[in-house]
Amino acid sequence: MLSDRDRIFTNLYGQDHWGLVSARQRGVWDRTQTLLGNGRDWIVQQVKDSGLRGRGGAGFPTGLKMSFMPKESDGRPAYLVVNADESEPGTCKDRDILRHDPHRLLEGCVLAGIGMGACAAYIYIRGEFIREARILQEAVEEARNASLIGKNACGSGREFDIFVHRGAGAYICGEETGLLESLEGKKGMPRLKPPFPASVGLWGCPTTVSNVETISVIPEILRRGADWFSGLGRPNNTGTKLFCISGHVMEPCNVEEVMGIPLKELIERHAGGVRGGWSNLLAVIPGGSSVPMIPKTICNNVSMDFDALAEVNSGLGTAAVIVMDKTTDVVAAIARLSRFYMHESCGQCTPCREGTGWMWRVMERLVLGKAEIEEIDLLLEVGSRIEGHTICAHGDASAWPIQGLVRHFRPEIERRILDRLKTQTSSSGLSV
Ligand code: SF4
Repeated sequence: MLSDRDRIFTNLYGQDHWGLVSARQRGVWDRTQTLLGNGRDWIVQQVKDSGLRGRGGAGFPTGLKMSFMPKESDGRPAYLVVNADESEPGTCKDRDILRHDPHRLLEGCVLAGIGMGACAAYIYIRGEFIREARILQEAVEEARNASLIGKNACGSGREFDIFVHRGAGAYICGEETGLLESLEGKKGMPRLKPPFPASVGLWGCPTTVSNVETISVIPEILRRGADWFSGLGRPNNTGTKLFCISGHVMEPCNVEEVMGIPLKELIERHAGGVRGGWSNLLAVIPGGSSVPMIPKTICNNVSMDFDALAEVNSGLGTAAVIVMDKTTDVVAAIARLSRFYMHESCGQCTPCREGTGWMWRVMERLVLGKAEIEEIDLLLEVGSRIEGHTICAHGDASAWPIQGLVRHFRPEIERRILDRLKTQTSSSGLSV
């Protein structure tokens, strides 16, 4: 369990004001000038040594990503882009940072941004986050008026500015290159990689795209030291993490906990337990809607970190824990997610554009048992032909929930088909 002294997000629930005065009292913007004075290499090395992995879903090592930015400028400016488009169903952690602790993010932008040689940060915020965008913009103005950003950011002698850009609500703009396209004023359609953003990103310039939570924890890593952060959790899965717990729990919540906390402890300690008790648990989607679900037998012992969840064929993703008790129609739940992924496909790649709709239509029939048994394997096969054959990970994300369902609940899908066949047979007067 995370002790209060190791907590980073001390205003996650908004008990305190989000503004600069209160933020400073909570330790934000403390010694930022000194930290910047340690230089670019020191900042990147500290982040590398901390073991921080991206909190937006992919879990890529953050320090390594920062080090991909050019050491010497070829004349082009470099940018940090913060992904605040949080659209993964079940995920609502960045929203709490944006509305209750925006200065923590802004300080992270300055430290990480200057650390990677950027001259500005663009925060791309989800269009529906109206109140959060207003608060964030006011926080940027406060920081600018206090000379924390601008021509001589934090007295560092470096120019660094921050701009807030509002999106229009498309899920695919949360994909880093789709986001860059949208930020440039075009349709949010993901780009082919390579080239990667670190060499050709925003307006053709070197760019790093990072998640809100990832950037927000960097100031505390630099202030308290990489060893402190890497001492939390376990190797390769270090630090603290914001978890969003929703669904059939007594008290849905966001909570900061140590990486690797057992799933059962997370739910029982912070969310009041499963509705009807742990024995009433059916399954959990542990990392936002795109990761495969895990049944209760796995939930009993699994830990909430990147590697532990990968070992059970699922993923930490955004750490959005969606709990389903035994009242859940698990086939209908996944069919609903299939519809979401079909709707949010940008349509560039044939496997994704055609395949997501095809999978959704089969899923709708499976809910009612109006399918043949062989179609279950066909569904898996089509999913495997989408996965890894598209421009962005949206294709994979559309296949994974279905794979999780079939892997763990195949008998339930088959039962529906057999029940329908029995009903048809008996109503036609034939014996089975
Ligand atoms: Fe668009 Fe889907 Fe292709 Fe991604 S995988 S680029 S969302 S069509």
